[in-house]
Amino acid sequence: MRMHPTALAVLLAVPSGAASPPAATTVELVWFDPRDTLSDRFGDLREEVDSIFRGIGVEVKWTRGGPGTVYGLGGRPEVAVILLAEDRSKGPESIMGLVLKSPKPTRVAWVFVSNVRAALGHDSLRTRPSLVEAPDLARAVARVAAHEVVHAIAPDEPHARDGLMSQALSRHFLLGARAPIDPRCASVFLGRLAELSPTRDASLALRTVPFRGP
Ligand SMILES: [Zn+2]
Repeated sequence: MRMHPTALAVLLAVPSGAASPPAATTVELVWFDPRDTLSDRFGDLREEVDSIFRGIGVEVKWTRGGPGTVYGLGGRPEVAVILLAEDRSKGPESIMGLVLKSPKPTRVAWVFVSNVRAALGHDSLRTRPSLVEAPDLARAVARVAAHEVVHAIAPDEPHARDGLMSQALSRHFLLGARAPIDPRCASVFLGRLAELSPTRDASLALRTVPFRGP
């Protein structure tokens, strides 16, 4: 395609996979915890989620969601993570997190905090974690949420044999030193993020028409 030099210069200024140095891969999380189930341990949780995704070269952009938060409009790789204090689904207690498959582009990951507490062996009669339990709960919820975020972005990818994307996560794993994502799941996740990234939509960017002068 022949192109006027001015148009070419403008195109090069548009962020595009071909014309710009690759930006850091990012995933945006909109985090809802209406019942403050982590007892102000959000900072710990965030650090853990950041560290899991940094391990595969992904930066997390965070938004704390509230009643008026709107999400899912940007066309970016974005996942709403919703923490439910109790699991009222009457499903098996072993389910700690869930992503519902839906044809809609909205990605929502649910975390059932009461079931995570049960998996950790925490006192279920207490409505909130104790001071000793709270840091462990933050770490475990971070890992369950990260697992569901990978599902939300790559819903067709099956579970892995080990690591964070295993079908079941034990107390030992939820509290262990590291929670790596296995290379196959990581690679599919990265591929899907790249497909969903707005930098791939440069063809939709509004371009200028060169001004040819009088
Ligand atoms: Zn899963």
